[in-house]
Amino acid sequence: MKIYNTLTRRKEELVPQDPKKLTMYVCGPTVYNLIHIGNARPMIVFDTFRRYLEYKGYEVNYVSNFTDVDDKIINKAKEEGVPSEVISTRYIEECKKDMEGMNIRPATTHPLATQEIDGMIEMISQLIEKGYAYAVEDGTVYFRVRKFPEYGKLSHKNLDDLESGHRKEKEAIKVSGEETKEDPFDFVLWKPKKEGEPYWESPWCEGRPGWHIECSVMARKYLGDEIDIHAGGEDLIFPHHENEIAQSEAANGVQFSKYWMHNAFLNIDGEKMSKSKGNFFTVRDISQHYDLQVLRFFMLSAHYRSPLNFSDELMESAKNGLDRIVNTAENLDYILNNSTGRSETFLPDEDQDFGSEYVKKFEEPMDDDCNTADAIAAVFELVRAINSAVNESSSFQFIALAKDRLQVLCEILGIKTERKKEVLDSDIEALIEERQAARKAKNFARADEIRDMLASMDIILEDTREGVKWHRK
Ligand code: AMP
Ligand code: ZN
Repeated sequence: MKIYNTLTRRKEELVPQDPKKLTMYVCGPTVYNLIHIGNARPMIVFDTFRRYLEYKGYEVNYVSNFTDVDDKIINKAKEEGVPSEVISTRYIEECKKDMEGMNIRPATTHPLATQEIDGMIEMISQLIEKGYAYAVEDGTVYFRVRKFPEYGKLSHKNLDDLESGHRKEKEAIKVSGEETKEDPFDFVLWKPKKEGEPYWESPWCEGRPGWHIECSVMARKYLGDEIDIHAGGEDLIFPHHENEIAQSEAANGVQFSKYWMHNAFLNIDGEKMSKSKGNFFTVRDISQHYDLQVLRFFMLSAHYRSPLNFSDELMESAKNGLDRIVNTAENLDYILNNSTGRSETFLPDEDQDFGSEYVKKFEEPMDDDCNTADAIAAVFELVRAINSAVNESSSFQFIALAKDRLQVLCEILGIKTERKKEVLDSDIEALIEERQAARKAKNFARADEIRDMLASMDIILEDTREGVKWHRK
């Protein structure tokens, strides 16, 4: 199997350290809000890659963190007047609900940055001891970038090129009060608390970690000093992943990750979708209009390294494509239950091979840098072949084989072949509105009927002072 390695800028044969096991770290979201569909792209594509690795026989140790201490979380907490833990806990839960809707399997471990502070203090101490980091007067600790000669190897930048761009930054640093840095390239490992912020004791000051050190420490703790694959969105290449490499390799003395995979951006109207630009949809927004399986299928319809533009037309075409697959799977179930075909103890030779050519056509692109777009094309070919080969007089074994072929490929893509019985968020909200109207009109019988109807769909209503809230059981 080949994957594109950002580090070497080439497609390379994937050779994990252990021929049977594979370690993979994927940078997770900062939890201060509902995740947007851009955040969902790395979750979906790397979950699919993990599923494919498992299909190929690897035991995958898959770690993905939640960044639960950050300026954005602190600001949101101030806005709401609650501790920042309330914000991070709330949005981790919400994120997990979205992940479930998109059929993203939970990672082997989902570490939280705030639970790993001891490890961060330990790594920072090691870096100081080895001369790769230094603490300044106010207790801030910086990484000494020039001490790490390979800095820039992932983003293929060199310090001299960066230097000119940094002239302006040097000026800015004077203004921002970061003039205690030895060098403008140096980045923060630990910073002093500000009034009202969460903090931890450390040898340098009461404070909190920088973002980059968190991932280096969580990867080391759960996967070891040397990992096979590190992944995330392409915006993380510089500085986040570059800095992770500098920290981990300086502290551990070995290569941090052998392969680096980066997904391209999800755009909207040709522009990067991002919270700061305000041009985003949350996964929750999409769940009002579509089953989230459609969102997953849409994401996989492009190669993960190609930019993907979000549009209604593409979502509609993903919906239709997914329907074709689900219809075929449902039809197979129907025929299986109603088949008049003889139950043979074995399949004739010519039938045993049915579908294997499409499995091969699926594996080939997946083996070539996880090309899900071409793999999906093979699934459609299989669907067509099934539709013309299977009918009510086919034998049970043949129908079951066809179903199994389809099922296996869909499972790799994380696509459920059963039609979702669950109601959409928009349907639930319409029912809640109707219940409110019924209550207003004192039609309590109808209001209770709606409550019971929702309860039977595992939707729990709570009447709060701020209005009606609902959640799935
Ligand atoms: P953040 O919460 O901003 O740290 O992002 C979490 C993950 O989502 C990172 O891997 C980002 O690279 C990725 N990401 C953020 N926005 C987009 C986007 N528009 N398209 C694809 N990936 C994104
Ligand atoms: Zn990270």
